[in-house]
Amino acid sequence: MKNAICKKWFLVLLISLPFFTNCASYPSAYVNESSAEIYAMNTLISLTVWGQDGKEAILDCENFIYQIEDKFSTTREDSELYQLSQAEGSQWVDLSLAVAEVLEYSLRLAEQTQGNFDPTIYPLVKAWGFTQDSHRVPSQAEIDSLLPLVDSSQVELDMENLRAMLPTGMELDFGAVAKGYVADELTDFLRDQGFNTAMISLGGNIYAMGKKTDGSLWNIGIQNPYGGGAIVSVQVEDKAVVTSGGYQRYFTDNGETYWHIIDPSTGYPAKTGLASVSIISDSAKYGDCLSTALFVMGLEDSIAFWREYQDFEAVFVTENEEIFITSNLAHAVASGYEATVIY
Ligand code: ADP
Ligand code: MG
Repeated sequence: MKNAICKKWFLVLLISLPFFTNCASYPSAYVNESSAEIYAMNTLISLTVWGQDGKEAILDCENFIYQIEDKFSTTREDSELYQLSQAEGSQWVDLSLAVAEVLEYSLRLAEQTQGNFDPTIYPLVKAWGFTQDSHRVPSQAEIDSLLPLVDSSQVELDMENLRAMLPTGMELDFGAVAKGYVADELTDFLRDQGFNTAMISLGGNIYAMGKKTDGSLWNIGIQNPYGGGAIVSVQVEDKAVVTSGGYQRYFTDNGETYWHIIDPSTGYPAKTGLASVSIISDSAKYGDCLSTALFVMGLEDSIAFWREYQDFEAVFVTENEEIFITSNLAHAVASGYEATVIY
């Protein structure tokens, strides 16, 4: 089997970092910049904070990320999520607050997105070999046998006692929400510590906290998945910009491309004609869940979803290289590109 894997030639989101043209007018401590780059949660993470004692805060952020990675890993046998997934079926398992909160949020989003985002997708992610980079095309019989295990309505969660119960064989995957959760937690922490300005990037998940230190908005570019630079350039403050795309992790077999975003209703990689979905939202975990869910839904259902909720903005790029954009972003389309505006 031809099993080429592909590094995430991910959509690099261009971040324009603060430009200290006017440093002299600020107390020097204010423009102190501290940053770190680490590889964790299967992705490159970069953290930058502006302000006094930023170094210590960044170290605390790094420790938090490693703790979450330890709890949420689907492959480490000592992780909490692994233990929950492998526990004997129909037995209560005690959870940490972090796992319980992300599970609670995920179950809510599974409901809101009508199961297009589903944290019980793991048996299928595993069957397609996306966990260990051992890619394969499962047989229809295998997919059929796994589909009944993908159903978040069967998860029992007891938030009062922080415990959960899964049916036998069900396994959880926080891969489509964890990075957003971490971005939200880190920015809450930094705000509590008195920081006003930070830039957090976890793979394709960006969170731009506050304004730049010169008082202007952040400028975030959403890249064309087919190359050629930014198709949309948004000015934001306290927003997450999250992208999901089929080209981020995939393999080819017999001329077919299979990617890591799975349609929970068919068990196959979601092919709806979309190449990427970017979400701009106040909450990074909302954007993370939605970018995955809308990628699975396809353009038409995504438009209906946006019209119903209207609490996020979105940019869709189709496999025909057409761009669709929600109306509040109509002004943000980069020059040289045309987009269909969604009202
Ligand atoms: P990335 O992690 O590459 O930024 P996503 O946020 O879209 O991309 O998450 C994709 C990951 O989420 C997959 O690698 C898999 O672990 C998991 N996943 C795949 N399909 C779904 C789905 N329909 N619902 C929830 N999680 C999914
Ligand atoms: Mg996601």
